[in-house]
Amino acid sequence: MSEVIVVGAGPTGLLLAGDLAQAGIAVTLLERRTDESNLTRAFAVHARTLEILDARGLADELAATGQRVPELLLLRRVRVDLSALPSRFPYLVVTPQYQTERLLTERAVRLGVRIVNGAEVVALRQDADGVDVDVKIAGATQTMRAAYLVGTDGVRSAVRGALGLPFPGRSAIRSVMLADVKLEQAPSDVLTVNTAGDAFAFLAPFGDGWYRVIAWSRDDQQPDRAPVTIDEIRSVVVRALGTDYGMHDARWVSRFHSDERQVPSYRVGRVLLAGDAAHVHSPAGGMGMNTGLQDAANLGWKLAATLRGTAPAGLLDSYQSERHPVGRMVLRLSGGLLRVGTSRPWQLPMLRAAATLAARFGAVTRRAAGQVSGIAIGYGRPNGAHPWTGRRAPDLPLVDGGRLYEALRDGRFVLVVPDGVKGAGLDGATVDGVRVVRSTVPGPVVLVRPDGYIGWAADAPSRSAVEAGIAGWISPATPGASSSR
Ligand SMILES: Cc1cc2nc3c(=O)[nH]c(=O)nc-3n(C[C@H](O)[C@H](O)[C@H](O)COP(=O)(O)OP(=O)(O)OC[C@H]3O[C@@H](n4cnc5c(N)ncnc54)[C@H](O)[C@@H]3O)c2cc1C
Repeated sequence: MSEVIVVGAGPTGLLLAGDLAQAGIAVTLLERRTDESNLTRAFAVHARTLEILDARGLADELAATGQRVPELLLLRRVRVDLSALPSRFPYLVVTPQYQTERLLTERAVRLGVRIVNGAEVVALRQDADGVDVDVKIAGATQTMRAAYLVGTDGVRSAVRGALGLPFPGRSAIRSVMLADVKLEQAPSDVLTVNTAGDAFAFLAPFGDGWYRVIAWSRDDQQPDRAPVTIDEIRSVVVRALGTDYGMHDARWVSRFHSDERQVPSYRVGRVLLAGDAAHVHSPAGGMGMNTGLQDAANLGWKLAATLRGTAPAGLLDSYQSERHPVGRMVLRLSGGLLRVGTSRPWQLPMLRAAATLAARFGAVTRRAAGQVSGIAIGYGRPNGAHPWTGRRAPDLPLVDGGRLYEALRDGRFVLVVPDGVKGAGLDGATVDGVRVVRSTVPGPVVLVRPDGYIGWAADAPSRSAVEAGIAGWISPATPGASSSR
């Protein structure tokens, strides 16, 4: 029997299943599709996601598949500089979603995840010890059981529906046209975006000659199933950008609508939700897949520790308290960007003036860069804790020539001790479940969680203070672990 069933092999489910398998958990990943996903829905991979992928040894390979973009341009006036982000990845990478999914699938398979394609979850029930799930495979329904189940089954989540959870929110935008096209002339900016009159258009290069085009026109609102032609897209692009750059050869076109919604609870007993199943918003800012991947990175080690009996009380519930506010922030940010991008013509001069003024204060654009890229996301700290607690861990250089995010690749906690710190009895220390490394950078001793956030920190602590810091995150394993915490 699997310890965890993950429903939905999109990016969120693939990363989560891989993390659980790496932690030694028996995982089954159920996916309704029978074929490989070839959708290029998400095309922006932001800096924090690249760091999360770096901690799994995948970032450089993914970055090599696309084009690096060092800045965002809003309203043709305001440049949001990503090149100053304090990250090994001071840019976003434009690459089709299927490239991210390909790397995550290969990793999940390598780590032993059992992936079942053509398996559609139709119902579930839970009791005190586990979850039963009804799965339709080749027309027949069978029941599978696991200690926990995670719904990463996208915006129309059957798992969310089976839990009876509401998905409150509102419709954000309709009749958005998408295509991947070739262009005769390359635009001068890497990302090209503008609103003019009632038309909005956005162009982004994949780096291999193909461009993603998004076009929207207030005066042409049609249902998702209405056909889209390249000529229709071209006419909106010309109105918004003044040219179509010689657009031709659409490899696919689509029309979609999007909502802004978030489920109130990410956990109901032994069933959890992550990714689009838990929150959805418009593509503005390109944060949907990124947020789902970061949900998965937050949840995997907590669920594994809960199953192994090494989770302190409340660890699994911290998934909700940490990730729900992030989801809410992303909905607000993306909604704000969407409304600016689709403002009415009479609002534009005012917005441009306000944006230009705001951009003069670098703090505004730096804040925007930190939030959109995910680099500024943190989880707060308890009263009295060291100020670094809860922050994203920077990729510290280590005395052995390596980096912190390489040291995180086996999925464990990492205790980082600055090279100069003596007297804490930490030299050569080994602690169960924790890898100890020495960094070349002066600063506090920090305990970095498997998801790359600082769980505990202290300036020149004693050995017993370090042990107490670790004990706040890792309990001694209980034999025959209770998996209900
Ligand atoms: C036009 C567009 C552009 C976008 N651009 C960006 C971007 O640039 N950056 C970004 O971060 N995000 C972007 N997004 C959002 C991004 O695509 C999603 O946030 C992301 O795919 C969510 O991943 P997920 O794994 O949570 O869900 P999904 O990718 O939706 O995966 C869910 C999986 O569950 C499977 N499934 C569904 N129901 C069942 C069931 N009952 N049983 C078994 N399996 C099931 C589905 O087949 C699917 O494979 C964009 C979205 C759109 C529409």
